[in-house]
Amino acid sequence: MSEEKSASKQPHLTAYIWSVIVAGLTVSLVSLSSLPLARLDKRFWLLMLITIVFGSRITIKIPRFKSHISVSDTFIFLCLLLYGGDTAVLLAFTEAFCSAWRFCKRKRTVFFNAAQLAFSTFVLVRVLRFQAGSMVELTRGELSTNFLVALCVMGLTQYVTNSGLTSIYGALKTGQPLWQTWKKYYLWTSITYFAGAAAAGLIAKLIYLIGFNAVIATTPIIAIIHFTYRTYLKNVEISVAQAEQAQQHAAALEEYATALRESEERFRSSFDHASIGMALVAPDGRWLKVNRSLCEIIGYTEEELLASNFQALTHPEDLAGALAHLNELLSGRSHTCQMEKRYYHRCGHEVWVLWSVSAVRETRTGVLHLIFQIQDITGRKRAEEQLIHDALHDALTGLPNRTLFIERLNLAIQRAGRNQTSLFAVLFLDLDRFKYINDSLGHLAGDQLLIAIARRLETCLRDCDMIARLGGDEFTVLLDGIESVEEAAQVAERIRAELARPFTLGGQEVFSSSSIGIALSTMGYTNAEDLLRDADTAMYRAKAAGRARYATFDQEMHTAAKEQFSLETDLRRAAERQEFRIHYQPIISLGSGRVEGFEALVRWQHPQRGLISPARFIPIAEETGLIIPIGQWVLHEACRQTRAWQERFPSHPPLSISVNLSSKQFTQPGLVECVKEVLRETGLDPHSLKLEITESGVMENKYMVERVIGQLHSLGIELIIDDFGTGYSSLSYLHRFPATTLKIDRSFVSHIGGHHENIAIVRTIVNLAANLGMKVVAEGVETREQLTQLKALDCECGQGYLFSEPIDAETATAFLDGMRQLEAGGFEVTSYARSLACGAV
Ligand code: C2E
Ligand code: MG
Ligand code: MG
Repeated sequence: MSEEKSASKQPHLTAYIWSVIVAGLTVSLVSLSSLPLARLDKRFWLLMLITIVFGSRITIKIPRFKSHISVSDTFIFLCLLLYGGDTAVLLAFTEAFCSAWRFCKRKRTVFFNAAQLAFSTFVLVRVLRFQAGSMVELTRGELSTNFLVALCVMGLTQYVTNSGLTSIYGALKTGQPLWQTWKKYYLWTSITYFAGAAAAGLIAKLIYLIGFNAVIATTPIIAIIHFTYRTYLKNVEISVAQAEQAQQHAAALEEYATALRESEERFRSSFDHASIGMALVAPDGRWLKVNRSLCEIIGYTEEELLASNFQALTHPEDLAGALAHLNELLSGRSHTCQMEKRYYHRCGHEVWVLWSVSAVRETRTGVLHLIFQIQDITGRKRAEEQLIHDALHDALTGLPNRTLFIERLNLAIQRAGRNQTSLFAVLFLDLDRFKYINDSLGHLAGDQLLIAIARRLETCLRDCDMIARLGGDEFTVLLDGIESVEEAAQVAERIRAELARPFTLGGQEVFSSSSIGIALSTMGYTNAEDLLRDADTAMYRAKAAGRARYATFDQEMHTAAKEQFSLETDLRRAAERQEFRIHYQPIISLGSGRVEGFEALVRWQHPQRGLISPARFIPIAEETGLIIPIGQWVLHEACRQTRAWQERFPSHPPLSISVNLSSKQFTQPGLVECVKEVLRETGLDPHSLKLEITESGVMENKYMVERVIGQLHSLGIELIIDDFGTGYSSLSYLHRFPATTLKIDRSFVSHIGGHHENIAIVRTIVNLAANLGMKVVAEGVETREQLTQLKALDCECGQGYLFSEPIDAETATAFLDGMRQLEAGGFEVTSYARSLACGAV
């Protein structure tokens, strides 16, 4: 029992229990010792039996307390009235002991209950003895006031003592004040005692009047009264419980209402003072309640907003999306939604917001509302837009860049794929001589020119056209939705004319021109890169045709481009397949007629196309970088062959070899080392090696070439300026340049017979070389007449079909052999050489 457990933990309670037990046992023993045994008849034992068997069984539960009141008090009172106090004390002890035995497991509690009732009965007996004398005598007498008063004292004393003892026990156990405990649980039980005392008095009187059977006769009455009272108590208990429940319910309701009020207050406060915009919106979009932040975000006052709806302020492009989201919410398919959308600020500009919506249904009315949370993200959006803009635009001119252009171009290609009638063109623009302007006026002026060109281009085009800067001086234009192919040509011409007008840069007039390539959608492109590539090819064609003009990419260019591509592919494999050959063209001393040496000229022995001229494949090799390994092989092979000839045909000075180097090779790092290595490997004397670089090649990269040539020159290698007369080199520059020989371009030599001015040019070159202390070699000598003229001009050396076409090493060996025999026989070398050459080809 929990009572026992708590008792063991509470020392006061334990002490109290033991005190009551000791007192109860003591009074019970005292009563036992003075028991009037002679007076105890059969009826006493019957009463005792009834009390023990039924007394405790007929009980009344004390409401909200784990205790009961039994009718055994009535029997104890009856015993007291019939047999005296000592028997009543013993009956009380016995009855309480037996009933407690049934209900309590712990023996101490059994003794406590028995002792408590015995003690309270003992007190009652003492009080009655003091107040009324012998109760037995009083019962036997007439019904008197004394008897009735004694009954009242009996009920009262037993009530006070018994409920007092029990209250002390309860107060000690629960820790509550005694008075409160007593008032709460036992005050109302007085009626039980008074009723018990009255019933006992009545029964006792009846027994004296009509005998013991009165007990039996009155028992049903007592039982009925008891059960009625019990029912009454039960009802009272139910009412009390209900009242308590109602009280609790009311308290809970009050608490809930307070919590609700607080929560509403909190919500209102956080709604009003939220840093993000918040609004309560009706399902049809009307603003029902808006907070200050929202008013600030979209610039309207609260009144203005409440008079309108959210649709009116939403950007038209975002409205459909927003309404679709709301439909989802209102139909219950989703509970929240979020999107980035635009509102119109009162001042007219767009405001980007992160819009979160949730639907709430009012529990009372069932009305559905929308709660908007609106966060201003304009700053972030602007930054994102700026980033995207920067990624897709050229920083200098602000024009779209390559990425954006390709994107738009792909769209145009897709559209043209779907609709065959849709026509568009791409113009590829490259400024002529922009590098020159950049170098001479500086990069700042170059930048200004590019910006000015971008602005001028914009004036030549329609709004739907797109101009982009691909980088450097390259611009592209997309002419979308043009009517005809001619329209593209007209625009190109307009642009060309517009860019030909002078630009003013820093107060200075600058002239520029542009070459334009046109590629048309009629060629059936499927990707933008191909289209751009072809427009670029056409642009190169325009440049090659003399600059400041436009060219349209056509079928012929397409075939040429394809051819170029296939050659390029084959060229990559040519070296490993050993398809390169060297032909040697003798260089003849015009004075002596002797062979001074050879020029090594590379050829490509293509398995299908046959022998391909260097003029055809060297530009591709230069473009692809393949010129480096090819050039290295030529140098090595030519040096090796020359060394072999020098050994077989010794002469003084020894035979020399001229090897052509492209400007790309001159700018290649490690060229000098490479040449040294070749000379070491082949054993050729550096003085027998001559390196040729074209005049235009020299001018292309003056300083680099100058430095490398200086190093080669210091090794003893001679340097020849090839194709002299075509490269616009300045005299002052030539003077500084450590070249030893000028090679007059074939174009001057070939017409030497007919054009007087060509003779004049050749003469000038010869004189110039003489003045600069340089040697001269005439290229492309084909006729005797040309030879005579060159000799007359004191040109030292000649090279051309008159002496020999370029021939393979074997033929060249035979040629050298023939020359040696000729020299030995004293014939004129040149005539033999010519006949040999004619026979050899
Ligand atoms: P180039 O160095 O000016 O070579 C002279 C070119 O004139 C050679 O053409 C030669 O065959 C040609 N030629 C010589 N005499 C006559 C003549 O009497 N009449 C006519 N019509 N032509 C004559 P080829 O061999 O086709 O070479 C063309 C160019 O290719 C060379 O011009 C040179 O610039 C370049 N080249 C040749 N081999 C190499 C090489 O190994 N490396 C480099 N980088 N370029 C080379
Ligand atoms: Mg040459
Ligand atoms: Mg040449």
